[in-house]
Amino acid sequence: MQGHCNCGSVTVEVNVPPNNEHKGFVCHCRNCQKSSGAGGAYLLMLPLSDITFNGPIKHYLDTNTNSGRAVHRHFCETCGSPLYGLLKEMMPGTALVRTTLFDEFKESPPIPNMELYVKDRWSWDQTLPGAQQCSANP
Ligand SMILES: [Zn+2]
Ligand SMILES: [Zn+2]
Repeated sequence: MQGHCNCGSVTVEVNVPPNNEHKGFVCHCRNCQKSSGAGGAYLLMLPLSDITFNGPIKHYLDTNTNSGRAVHRHFCETCGSPLYGLLKEMMPGTALVRTTLFDEFKESPPIPNMELYVKDRWSWDQTLPGAQQCSANP
C-alpha cells in the first residue's frame, strides 16, 4: 500500500494488506490536535520495519506532552503534512502512521477501534461507536 503527503514530496510504502485489519485509532490529545490542525490525529499502529518513507522529512522532538513521554514527530519538510510519530521508549519498533497519507482509504477509511485522550476531545465531537474510550493513554 502506498501513500504520500499533501505535496507529494514524501512517499510511503507499507507492507500490510489493504483492508480494515489495521489497528486504527484516534488521539485527541492537545499536541495531536495542534500537529493536525484538527480535533485529533487518525493513526495506524504499524511495525517500523514494514514501512519505507522517501523524501524530505523533518523531525520534531515533542517533549511537552500530557503523558510526559517524548514523541518524535515527523513531517514533510516541503508542505508540513504530518507523517508519523515514534514513542521510542514506550513502543520501540512501532510507528504511528497518519491514516490520511493513504488515498485508498478515501472511500473506506479504517474505523478507529480506540479513542485516546477523550478528556480533551472537542465537546461537539461524537464518540465513535464501538471504539474503546480512554480518558488519556490506555
Ligand atoms: Zn509534502
Ligand atoms: Zn496524541
